[in-house]
Order: sequence, then C-alpha cells, then structure tokens
Amino acid sequence: MRCLLLALPFALLPALAPAHEQHDHDHDHGHSSLGSHEHGAAELDIALDGRVLEVELRSPAVNLLGFEHAPRDDAEERKMAETFAQLQQPDALFGLPSEAQCELDEANLESPLFVEDGHGHEQHDAGTHSDVHGHYRYSCNAPGALVGLDLQGWFRAFPGIEKIETQLIGPNGQQGKLLRAEQTQITF
Ligand SMILES: [Zn+2]
Repeated sequence: MRCLLLALPFALLPALAPAHEQHDHDHDHGHSSLGSHEHGAAELDIALDGRVLEVELRSPAVNLLGFEHAPRDDAEERKMAETFAQLQQPDALFGLPSEAQCELDEANLESPLFVEDGHGHEQHDAGTHSDVHGHYRYSCNAPGALVGLDLQGWFRAFPGIEKIETQLIGPNGQQGKLLRAEQTQITF
C-alpha cells in the first residue's frame, strides 16, 4: 500500500509537469533536496484501499504557518503549536462524511521546523525553505459511503494554500486533479 502511494507521484509526473509553472518570486536555490517547493502549492496523495484511507501531505511550511524559519517570538511559537495541533487532528480538513465512519489511526508530521533540540527549536536559517510532510491513516467502517472528499477545509484553515495537487487512488482507478478554493471536490 505504502509502495503504491509512493510510486504514484512519479507515475503521474509527466502529465503534471506543465502545471508546475514557476512563479517569479525570489526563491534562492540552496534547497534542491526539497524537490518541488512552490509557495502556495500543496500536494495530497490519497489512496482508498478497502477500509483503509491513506493520505500523504507535502507543503511548503509557509503555506501553513506564514513563515518558514524557526519561531522568533511568542506569536510565532503559538502559531506553530496551533498549526501542529490542527494538522494532527485533520478530520475537518479532509471533510470525511460521517456515514463512512472513518477513524484516524495514525498521524505523522515531519518538518525541520517541528524538530527541537534540548535548547528549543533547531536553528533554521531565514534564507532556507522548509517543507511539512504529513502521513495519515484512517480506517473506515463503511468505506462504501466514501464517494469523495471535499477539501475546502484546507483552503479555509490555511489561506496560504492557493492550490492543491491531488493524486487519488480508489476503487475506480487513479486520477490527478488540481484543486483551488473555488473547486474543492474530489471523487473516488
Ligand atoms: Zn519556501
């Protein structure tokens, strides 16, 4: 399952390549390890296999936090903690229909910004870019009721997200869809 999910972005990459338009803002280029890092763009890979719904989130941290450096003051510390908590309880973000009876089994979040050493947050240069990765697994008791998802919660909660590239694997095969705030529905 996990292999399938990881393989998906590569399988669909050629079809999506033209959608990766580069904006003209001044990203410096010391972050090639981040892969595609475009402010405003997030990615969600969603796979429904039987009762198991798995989701991978990739997003520049700035979309979610409004900044990509280690928190510098109390307000940024609070924002970080709130965002972390919000991403760990993503039910509202995914708009799961209650009839599907999905329960969150696992939520893993990774970001250089979430790492702390013994003295607080790791030093993180202001000039570098940071991503947030999330991995979620739900079990759904009535997956037949999971016809689709409405991801408007992501756009509401995080105004920094302008678009979400979704890759979907479900009972009817796989598809890619680009969502924006005015079009947030995906169907399995
Ligand atoms: Zn960035």
